[in-house]
Amino acid sequence: MIEVRDLSKRYGDKLAVDHLSFSVEPGRVTGFLGPNGAGKSTTMRLILGLDRPNSGTATIGGRPYRELSQPLRVVGALLEARAVHSGRSAFNHLLVLAQTQSLPRRRVDEVIDLIGLREVAGQRAGGFSLGMGQRLGIAAALLGDPKVLVLDEPVNGLDPEGIHWIRNLLKRLAGEGRTVFVSSHLMNEMAVTADHLIVIGRGQLIADCPTEEFIARSSEKSVRVKGPDRDRLEQLITAEGGRVTADEDGALTVADLEAPRIGELAAGAGLVLHELTPQLASLEEAFMELTRASVEYGAQAHDTAATDAMPVPLEAGPR
Ligand code: ADP
Repeated sequence: MIEVRDLSKRYGDKLAVDHLSFSVEPGRVTGFLGPNGAGKSTTMRLILGLDRPNSGTATIGGRPYRELSQPLRVVGALLEARAVHSGRSAFNHLLVLAQTQSLPRRRVDEVIDLIGLREVAGQRAGGFSLGMGQRLGIAAALLGDPKVLVLDEPVNGLDPEGIHWIRNLLKRLAGEGRTVFVSSHLMNEMAVTADHLIVIGRGQLIADCPTEEFIARSSEKSVRVKGPDRDRLEQLITAEGGRVTADEDGALTVADLEAPRIGELAAGAGLVLHELTPQLASLEEAFMELTRASVEYGAQAHDTAATDAMPVPLEAGPR
């Protein structure tokens, strides 16, 4: 279990992590979600004792990382993708890491098989693609058979097969009772990977709830309605409390009124409908909406809620 209490981290006048509190429970995959610049990496670095907070605490199994006597056997971590500048083979890269932790050579073999690196184990790690490098990083994180995993954007740079593989691995590790804490800036990715979500924006907590609940809450409903007498349709819907926007193709998009009620109103008034379609906002759109005020806009934006500015596209990779 990871516990973060009132954690803050300031870089100059920038509050990267802003009084954040949450717990990461064992036995499930917890997604750490937020747009680029939200403070995910900083929070993970604080949990791993790589940086000191300005206030608050982060503990793993009740103790700060720095106080763990054999930290790599307790926590495995993958931080933001970095090329491995190693002339060593993948096997030897892992062997050196294992030796520094007094882990047997046998464990390197186990992890190589677990991560599916057997075929490339003899190749120079420095020549690996980003995707292979990610796998090697995950292999390194698992060497000490840790109960807690902290992975920063692990699917970054992976092809669809690699993403699928990681997703299954994370679920399996959580199924074994481990604490799995994994960050991403991609809502759709987390929706299918995580059981529980911690969502942050501008260093602050936005949501801490089961993924299903977050999806239900975020999926804003609207209805598309089309008919020959658009003006009367609009009057009827507005009079009943619906919010209407006119689409370019002559249809209306209605919020705050459900499709059956719109159908009844039209029938009651004898109006013909050509279309009546309930719509769900895409999860990615809903997420952008939710985090809009808290997205990192660059230099000008660190302390004003610039709700009118466009968020950074979520598809963009981490800096
Ligand atoms: P995320 O991982 O969610 O993309 P980060 O934790 O990397 O976000 O960054 C949060 C904010 O803190 C950003 O504005 C980033 O520029 C800033 N930041 C992160 N690390 C440093 C640092 N070492 N020095 C100065 N600013 C930093």
